[in-house]
Amino acid sequence: MGRMERSCFTLDLGAIRRNAETLLRAAEGAELWAVVKAEGYGHGAVDVSKAALEAGATALCVATLPEALHLRAALRNARILVMGPVSERELGEARVARLELVAADGQVPEGVRVHLKIDTGMGRWGLSELPSPTRDVVGVMSHLASAESDPAFTQLQVARFREATAGLSSLTRHLANSAAVLRFAEARFDAVRCGIALYGISPFGTDPSHDGLEPALRWESYVALAKRLDPGESTGYGRRYVADRPTWIGVVPVGYADGFRRDMSGTDVLVDGVRRRVVGTISMDALAVVLDGPVESGTPVTLVGDGVLVEEHARVADTIAYEVAVGLNTRSGRARRVAVDG
Ligand SMILES: *Cc1c(COP(=O)(O)O)cnc(C)c1O
Repeated sequence: MGRMERSCFTLDLGAIRRNAETLLRAAEGAELWAVVKAEGYGHGAVDVSKAALEAGATALCVATLPEALHLRAALRNARILVMGPVSERELGEARVARLELVAADGQVPEGVRVHLKIDTGMGRWGLSELPSPTRDVVGVMSHLASAESDPAFTQLQVARFREATAGLSSLTRHLANSAAVLRFAEARFDAVRCGIALYGISPFGTDPSHDGLEPALRWESYVALAKRLDPGESTGYGRRYVADRPTWIGVVPVGYADGFRRDMSGTDVLVDGVRRRVVGTISMDALAVVLDGPVESGTPVTLVGDGVLVEEHARVADTIAYEVAVGLNTRSGRARRVAVDG
């Protein structure tokens, strides 16, 4: 067998489109705006944006000006909203690129379309009171702090938003994130801003199929070397895994520099379709799995996909699936990256 790339990320554009359609159905008439910040939660912002727009999304949301300019270069006509702060220096570029900005600190930029952001309980970006809209203002928004876990507080934020925007029905009102679209009908307003669910990852940390969502990213590698440890022998830095009986382990050429975090040791991956435990300290460029016998070098390993969920890896790492997804190193050239139309 010839040498393989260390690992490969495969983005399923069909899954993105189907997730967008699911969210559009849940949005019941509100527009779907695709949140593709942080390189599309690690999935690839341009590919994801195109698929989401094809499926009926009407705008793209990012966090920073460079993210928006990157999208603008590929998508000449899409509506692009920069949700985070833009510096004075960046404002000219935002105008030229026909971006839309958020006013969250009292200053309302001129010569670009603006969304006023009111803080209804997130306690982060946002004004405590809405100024009267200037003629550049096209939208009014807020952000939910705990739609995935706290219905009472979410209802309170929805009520505050409804009240604050009562006289502004000519503007596009948008509040809901993925969790809110899936659970709170009253949070939908005129547009919904969905990130995590678009990628087929559950905002609730549960199995995404329960909400009709399909994971869009696969991550595959292979066993580069299988070896037998005798009792007392160990694998990896710090000798954190020591064999207590003759044990076969497989070395996989993926590590924390690829986004397989050190705190994901103990999670499962598939080796030739069978669940196997990741053991020992994860290195920068390699990890080890326990096997039940020797396997050939080149045996396929699925790190994400075929039922191995980023939600599971996140649970092992005691974090949220968002952070695992965003940390996947899909862009540096360490891994191959392909998009398929599944
Ligand atoms: C990231 C973000 C979203 C998307 O949240 P998901 O939970 O990924 O759907 C929506 N609105 C704002 C302001 C955000 O920063």
